[in-house]
Amino acid sequence: MKIDVLTLFPEMFEGVFNASILGKAKEKGLVTPQAINFRAYSGNKHNTVDDYPYGGGGGMVLKPEPVFAAVEDLKLDEAIKPRVILLCPQGAQFTQQKAEELAKEEHIVLICGHYEGYDERIREHLVTDELSIGDYVLTGGEIPAMVIIDSVVRLLPGVLGNETSAVTDSYSTGLLEHPHYTRPAEFRGWAVPDVLISGHHANIEVWRREQSLIRTQERRPDLLESAELTDKERRWLTARRKQRAPQ
Ligand code: SAM
Repeated sequence: MKIDVLTLFPEMFEGVFNASILGKAKEKGLVTPQAINFRAYSGNKHNTVDDYPYGGGGGMVLKPEPVFAAVEDLKLDEAIKPRVILLCPQGAQFTQQKAEELAKEEHIVLICGHYEGYDERIREHLVTDELSIGDYVLTGGEIPAMVIIDSVVRLLPGVLGNETSAVTDSYSTGLLEHPHYTRPAEFRGWAVPDVLISGHHANIEVWRREQSLIRTQERRPDLLESAELTDKERRWLTARRKQRAPQ
């Protein structure tokens, strides 16, 4: 997968592109990430990329010319329809489902804003998507871009080793993941659940599914509305909820 990030701070991506799982994915040639400073496309001798907002008011606005020029210089292959994504607190909420959707793309372009915002024509005529990583406002789109890149790249085939699996992760299954334990079997008097050291794989799977349902019901009951559950599981969760409701 090719990933191009348009940013005013390409140096922020050096660590992210070269460390940990993303660094290994890059080494293996599974992902080709690149951070491009769109100030290089300012087209003026002062390298200005922002200007005062029409109509007055505080804050500076990113001009359209450098951003359009930087995207056009990527010479996007229209046959593969690259996704051009604007990072923006007003965009659609980024979710695990969106990460799974983007992981199927061959090429994504991420545009990181700064200052008060973007000239609206970037939004209207250049991008295919607008994404927000949550209902809060950050200084720039760099950290949101890193969040998206990390969550997408770990889903690409061959990126995670056998020791880590994205398939059972929280949200991938529509539920929160079950708890994990490792050695020692007893730590400061706190024991690992017997079933996990029983070696009985079928019982372990049943326990994990049950724990996943419990955890989701307790922490994110909203997810249960769209999760794929059997009738038996739905009845069990309803009974559990009623049992725990204050009398
Ligand atoms: N004035 C804008 C507004 O109210 O919508 C906020 C601009 S913010 C200070 C500057 C840039 O940071 C945005 O253009 C965007 O690229 C990025 N940004 C901030 N919060 C974000 C979020 N929650 N998700 C994605 N990008 C965000």
